[in-house]
Amino acid sequence: MSSLNLRVPGPTPLPQEVLTALSRQMIDHRSSDFNKLLRFVTDGLKQVYQTKNDMLLLTASGTGGLEAAVANTLSPGERTLVVSIGAFGDRVASIVTAFGGEPVKLSFPVGTAADPEKLRAALKAEPNLKTVFITHNETSTGVTNDLGTLAKVVKGEGKTLVVDGVSSLGSLPCPVDEWGIDLAVSGSQKGWMAPPGLAMISVSAQGWETIKQSKMAKYYFSLTEAKAYADRGETPWTPAVSTLYAMEVGLQMILKEGVQNVFERHAGIGAHTRRAVKAMGFKLVAADEQRASNTVTAVYLPEGAVWKELSAKLRKDYNVVLAGGQASLSGKIFRVGHLGWVSEKDVDAALAALKQVLPMPAKVS
Ligand SMILES: *Cc1c(COP(=O)(O)O)cnc(C)c1O
Repeated sequence: MSSLNLRVPGPTPLPQEVLTALSRQMIDHRSSDFNKLLRFVTDGLKQVYQTKNDMLLLTASGTGGLEAAVANTLSPGERTLVVSIGAFGDRVASIVTAFGGEPVKLSFPVGTAADPEKLRAALKAEPNLKTVFITHNETSTGVTNDLGTLAKVVKGEGKTLVVDGVSSLGSLPCPVDEWGIDLAVSGSQKGWMAPPGLAMISVSAQGWETIKQSKMAKYYFSLTEAKAYADRGETPWTPAVSTLYAMEVGLQMILKEGVQNVFERHAGIGAHTRRAVKAMGFKLVAADEQRASNTVTAVYLPEGAVWKELSAKLRKDYNVVLAGGQASLSGKIFRVGHLGWVSEKDVDAALAALKQVLPMPAKVS
């Protein structure tokens, strides 16, 4: 089978250098070789996160990282502000509920970003809330929050800020220390040119203070335990060794290209993708193109188009995989992932195939 043009927002295709690294033999995770590997990956991640905070690696997908952030910062019965602009914001609220917390949801209409003034008002309305959860890049709608401005509001009120940066960190600028993000979560299979298997989470001094007070149950995802081991170059439990091999090479590639250049490449591909889908007649889900994501583009399907059929044809006849809609957007939109190891040519090939399978012009009223 010729290789897939996998244009979903994770997992993302891997460069040959990373595929080669994945064939390496196992090493023992209590060895000096592993120490060196973990330290390189941790230091590299800190450079990309632009942080001096602690960096912890958990064996999990991104959701595991979010679960760790919830379970380590909150206590049962605690109310917490969850800013949601789509399915991933909603997921954080569900995790809070599952762990016995009370999410105070601040939701915004589909396709829009969070309004900093509404955030400020919500924080003023409930001054006892200690922690705020915000999605940086909402992968379900292709909208990127103005996190720098939102973070200023949160930090101005002295709150602990937890950010779901799963589909932004590594691809979009997210200077963790400059913005004052206390916990920042990402996942290896998004922009990092690595397979699924690792959640990466940075924790600030204020983050640790909040963690000390947290009474929610945790064991596997205890960040206190993860830090105790990280300080000596280990993880508490058996790590995803192969994913670490991949992260090492992916980070080497990112650092060689230059972090700012990686961000600019994503900005260029994002703009290119939006130009292309608009030229085909599609309407972006992002209401304000200024806030459209540079890692994933979401567009409305034309009237009468059946995504299940289109996506099956794309895969069968063209080896192209695009993502459908999630939750309330299922069947109404599709999404093009353009993060990690991606070029304009990959996007163009996927859209050319889409043009072939579309039963009608893409004009959306
Ligand atoms: C992918 C993603 C996640 C995590 O999903 P997993 O499938 O658990 O890795 C969380 N938040 C956002 C914004 C994402 O894009």
